[in-house]
Amino acid sequence: MKIGAPKETFAGEARVAMTPDSAKQLQKLGYDCAIESGAGEAAGFSNAMYKEAGVEVLKTGAALFKACDIVAKVRQPDATELKRLDKGQTLISFFNPAANDEGMEAAKAKGANVIAMEMVPRISRAQKMDALSSMANIAGYRAVIEAGNNFGRFFTGQITAAGKVPPAKVLVVGAGVAGLAAIGTSTSLGAITLAFDVRPEVAEQVESMGAEFVYLDFEEEQADGASSGGYASVSSPEFREAQLAKFRELAPEVDIVITTALIPNREAPELWTEDMVKAMKPGSVIVDLAAEKGGNCKLTVMDEKIVTDNGVTIVGYTDFPSRMAAQASTLYATNIRHMMTDLTPEKDGQINHDMEDDVIRGATVTFEGEITFPPPPPKVQ
Ligand code: NAD
Repeated sequence: MKIGAPKETFAGEARVAMTPDSAKQLQKLGYDCAIESGAGEAAGFSNAMYKEAGVEVLKTGAALFKACDIVAKVRQPDATELKRLDKGQTLISFFNPAANDEGMEAAKAKGANVIAMEMVPRISRAQKMDALSSMANIAGYRAVIEAGNNFGRFFTGQITAAGKVPPAKVLVVGAGVAGLAAIGTSTSLGAITLAFDVRPEVAEQVESMGAEFVYLDFEEEQADGASSGGYASVSSPEFREAQLAKFRELAPEVDIVITTALIPNREAPELWTEDMVKAMKPGSVIVDLAAEKGGNCKLTVMDEKIVTDNGVTIVGYTDFPSRMAAQASTLYATNIRHMMTDLTPEKDGQINHDMEDDVIRGATVTFEGEITFPPPPPKVQ
């Protein structure tokens, strides 16, 4: 069978779902590989590099969809790409199934089998295919770099002949995948790093990375936001008030705030209010990773960088992984390659789409002319 990656059509998207290295691994599984001409260009992978790795370069996206049994993509397919799907073809891509009925109906009508990368269950066996995590890791790292780029001072404290420089103080809100990556980056740059999460079980992890966990003055245990599977649920009004009171106290002290708070399938909780922004020092920076879901900061403008009247920069970009396209493509293409390894147990270049396998079943949103989303809960945790 042949697997190929087209050039992404979403405006500004620089990532690609297959790299020359991942293609070599896919060939070891018995597949022929193809790429649309120029698909890797923005991520630093030229047609020549693909050819060198034994990948066929096809002129157009249409030709690629026609030639391939399996199509690997980053962004959910657009209307033209959906029309190109064919019976029995497999598409592996982010697909946003919870808000993409049209896409699922189109794929079902075509008889294509769609594996949605955001649906890979967050269980240990599937970590190697967990593209949400690999992309969130990049976003967390890049959020700190972006903050540094907009912050006029050092992260680390210094004593120099020209004077003493205090270290920057960074607050990370939400210590999931992106938050932990931000914490690691911030501490390694030498900033005093504080972190808060509604799940108290992450405190130890935060502290082991050299950051300080922010505890609330809250009578109940700080477990109010905890729920199963490593995800948070909605906080009670009392807990939220205690959290906001703590943030109000911290706002004038911190130089950089990175917000990453997320509750699955909901709008982002609003945690950094207008009065907190007003209380921050001029020159402070907020990077809001939740911008796409409405933002954790009240004043965030999606996909924009703004500066408030009191001189606080607020970054609401939603494309951090694409801004690090070489790294993001490498990790994403590896996630796809691992998915293909599980789909090819015999290493014979033939897909075995085993719907009894929890991970494959969990990620499959259309199969043999049926919509199979949402999946049943996984049997194994
Ligand atoms: P995650 O589920 O691993 O982490 C989210 C964390 O937020 C969890 O630890 C959760 O407990 C915590 N949380 C929930 N409610 C909270 C609250 N009220 N206060 C404090 N913490 C709270 O998610 P993730 O994979 O780390 O993603 C984080 C965010 O980054 C998401 O919104 C995601 O969409 C976004 N993201 C943005 C980009 C970008 O380019 N901007 C790229 C990738 C991911």
